[in-house]
Amino acid sequence: MTNPLLADWKTSFGLPPFADISDEDFAPGFEAALTEARAELAAIIENSDPPTFANTIDALELMGEGLHKVLSPFYTLAGVDSNPAREALQREFSPKLAAWGSEVSMNPHLFARVDALWQDRDNLDLTAEQLRVLELTRRNLVRAGAQLEGFAFDRLKQVKERLAVLGTRFTQNLLADERAWYMELDAVDLEGLPDFVLATAKAAAEEQGAEGHVVTLSRSLIVPFLQFSSRRDLRERAYEAWTSRGANGGETDNRAIATEILTLREERAHLLGYDDFATYKLETEMAKTPDAVRKLLMEVWEPARAQADLDAQSLAAMMHNDGVNDALEPWDWRYYSEKRRAAEHDLDEAELKPYLQLDRMIEAAFDCATRLFGLEFKPLDVKLHHPDARAWEVTRNGEHIAVFIGDYFARGGKRSGAWCSALRSQQKLRGDIRPHVINVCNFAKPAKGSPALLSYDDARTLFHEFGHALHQMLSNVTYESISGTSVARDFVELPSQLFEHWLEVPEVLQKYATHAKTGKPMPADMLQRMLDAANYDQGFSTVEYVASAMVDIEFHTGDAPEDPMAMQAEILESMGMPPAIRMRHATPHFAHVFAGDGYSSAYYSYMWSEVMDADAFAAFEEAGGAFHEATARKLEDHILSVGGLRDADVLYTEFRGRLPGVDALLKGRGLDNVA
Ligand SMILES: [Zn+2]
Repeated sequence: MTNPLLADWKTSFGLPPFADISDEDFAPGFEAALTEARAELAAIIENSDPPTFANTIDALELMGEGLHKVLSPFYTLAGVDSNPAREALQREFSPKLAAWGSEVSMNPHLFARVDALWQDRDNLDLTAEQLRVLELTRRNLVRAGAQLEGFAFDRLKQVKERLAVLGTRFTQNLLADERAWYMELDAVDLEGLPDFVLATAKAAAEEQGAEGHVVTLSRSLIVPFLQFSSRRDLRERAYEAWTSRGANGGETDNRAIATEILTLREERAHLLGYDDFATYKLETEMAKTPDAVRKLLMEVWEPARAQADLDAQSLAAMMHNDGVNDALEPWDWRYYSEKRRAAEHDLDEAELKPYLQLDRMIEAAFDCATRLFGLEFKPLDVKLHHPDARAWEVTRNGEHIAVFIGDYFARGGKRSGAWCSALRSQQKLRGDIRPHVINVCNFAKPAKGSPALLSYDDARTLFHEFGHALHQMLSNVTYESISGTSVARDFVELPSQLFEHWLEVPEVLQKYATHAKTGKPMPADMLQRMLDAANYDQGFSTVEYVASAMVDIEFHTGDAPEDPMAMQAEILESMGMPPAIRMRHATPHFAHVFAGDGYSSAYYSYMWSEVMDADAFAAFEEAGGAFHEATARKLEDHILSVGGLRDADVLYTEFRGRLPGVDALLKGRGLDNVA
């Protein structure tokens, strides 16, 4: 039988034939596709014709299609439904892929051809997009070390290969720690837990093959447990397990890996002629320098910490009233904060939850996309990678735009967090290729027969990931390398964070927040209270985020730390970290920074984008409302459809007429008037 990964896919829309693919197909498929890609590269660099845009840049863009067909379904599966076989394959592929990446990006012959085109660019009659692709291709080669020679060249290659291995190991250790821990709850341990938490804890027990209820380290279970459990001893145990991921000693400990990664990144920057890794990394970002990042973070830090200190005093007083005469600890914060939220905003998460049904929130996100961009969504009956995943065809005026896939429920083999990726990106070089986009979340799966219910935060995550999906689906460029979300890291969160604002538009929830049992819309006063409470506890969230972002940027500036854990402690100390709050992601489980290069020295990006999203949404409000047609068109024309066609600051200025300041962000977080 032929390997389905290497065959022509006769599936609807050319989706990967998941039903026919078995784990045994990946390794041979990968080897065959890699050989083919190598032949394609050889054909480009050994071409005896002088370099032209078509025989070099176009050919490079078209290279590796077979490899993509193997790896796109593979990495989808490895992320959402891992198993030991897939983990072994990941370990096998990652150094080979890093080596292949180096063969291309550090190729002196390829660089010579690209550089010749670049020097001659004024005579090539290129379109603006072609010129941009040429510029970025050359820049990527330079930054990868294609110009290096001798020892520096060989050493850089080794460093990159080693980093790829370490990144995979970091991720797998984390997953192992997350999977290994759960806490069984006896009847007396259930004190304070509302029905929805009990239901999630029961479903988690079933998945573990345990009786009754368990708490796992899945964010959608542990966070509500910490919010509601009145058992301080259990909260402490669960919290310590949660924040010790990757730091439990033994084989899955990530601390030594983090040290080695930081040292190797510094060496990589030095080999390329940069002072440190952050300087290298930020060169191509919108922020451009570590100092610009620090400036933003500190502007936000001071008011956020002041707010958090005030909040800590109130929460400690509540705890003392409860008869607990102890200092407020990190495992107390969410519990008393939830009580305070209920009291101040008269809002009870358990009462709220039946109104936020997953299916209705999906409809709400779709409806916003219809009203803003004219997109329509029709469910598709196709075989996907897992029975929980669902697909829709996206059209506009009857024309096919994209396939959208949602895989929403948490399960054992799924990486934690939420993300958006493209199984296939939009481009026109190979014909009119429309994208296949997937949103992955980790919402609690309901018991059979019950509707899935979300927290307000979950609903926000759903809108966030859908914003990334829109950036992919509305893409309209020729070259894949600049398509969709292929933009600067600190710009990529703009469309996603911007889309979250539509969840806060009252008419959206008035229509879609309906009670799971009665079907009645959420009462107006509850809706108002929920929206008022949405910005609740921003001192806490801002502090835990900025602390992580600051540690990340300092790790990659100056000399690499010999002991990252000690350096982390020093940084937090010097910032005056409130004692009852910890980093959102501490070093041993800071996957954004250590699982790969994506967010290393770039975790600040979320906040950088938030500065823009607050300001961009204001553009709609100023123009006449959240669904203002001309503003939506401008957003699509200048940001959502053009990918990385121009630098991020240029795109934003085209949309808004100017760049934003930090004020809209502080106002949005309610931190603009901290005493
Ligand atoms: Zn995002």
